[in-house]
Amino acid sequence: MRLASYHLHTTHCDGTVSAAAMLDAARKAGMTDLGFSAHAAWPFAASWHLPPKRYDAYLAEVRALARGDTGGIRVWCGFEADYLPGATVPDRGYYAAFSPDFLIGSVHYVASDDPGRAAEPWTVDGPAADVRATLERAFDGDGKRAVSRYFALLREMTARYGFDIIGHADLPRKRNGELGFFDENAPWYRKELEVTADAIGKSGKIVEINTGAITRGAMDDLYPSGEFLAILARQGARFTLNSDAHAPEDLTGAYDRAYRAAREAGVRELWFLGTAGWEPEALG
Ligand SMILES: [Zn+2]
Ligand SMILES: [Zn+2]
Repeated sequence: MRLASYHLHTTHCDGTVSAAAMLDAARKAGMTDLGFSAHAAWPFAASWHLPPKRYDAYLAEVRALARGDTGGIRVWCGFEADYLPGATVPDRGYYAAFSPDFLIGSVHYVASDDPGRAAEPWTVDGPAADVRATLERAFDGDGKRAVSRYFALLREMTARYGFDIIGHADLPRKRNGELGFFDENAPWYRKELEVTADAIGKSGKIVEINTGAITRGAMDDLYPSGEFLAILARQGARFTLNSDAHAPEDLTGAYDRAYRAAREAGVRELWFLGTAGWEPEALG
């Protein structure tokens, strides 16, 4: 079976090594498909995004790698594009000038639904102290309201924009074990998962099974949770397996665990990028 990750970061954004070093590690790991996905919020950038001035250098470097001796690995150049309504969107038309091979759409920031507080959003993906502080400021610490808003944005992004892969779909769980700001067994949360899975199934977009929280020690579990994965599989969602690696040693980290979880949830195939688009392969 093909061994891929379409979600990885290099020193062009917040990764630890160059694209060439990642490709070298992928070759040693026996990978078949490698998709670079620099953090993008065009035309903006926080400290962990690809700076606007470096888009051309990033594209040129990854494309040169793809044209060179890859040891048979298919190398693709994409972005992990932020959804920040009114500021930046993960959409092929929006990023057309850069002709990415694929786009991941991710929600990392959630602005308050109270316009008076929208200026400083909840940082869903940050260190625990930032997640707690911004949740307090944007949503008065109301985890249910903040998480519901997160999923509403994820559905809006999925329905409206042209991208390929939904990044870490249940990201709010990342710091919940530590901070306990919402109950993952509450009926309202299950409802959010069901409504979101329905929207994703209808969209035809690919959901990534993401091992990044495990390898980076943020949470001892995959995105999506086993429960969400099973609901998504029932709704006919398509899946890919991604490591969200920021370091070469994490390129296929926790993949055995992900394959097991996928089978248990009823996932029958994974999707891989080919020259004619996304194609399925049976999960062995
Ligand atoms: Zn992300
Ligand atoms: Zn990422």
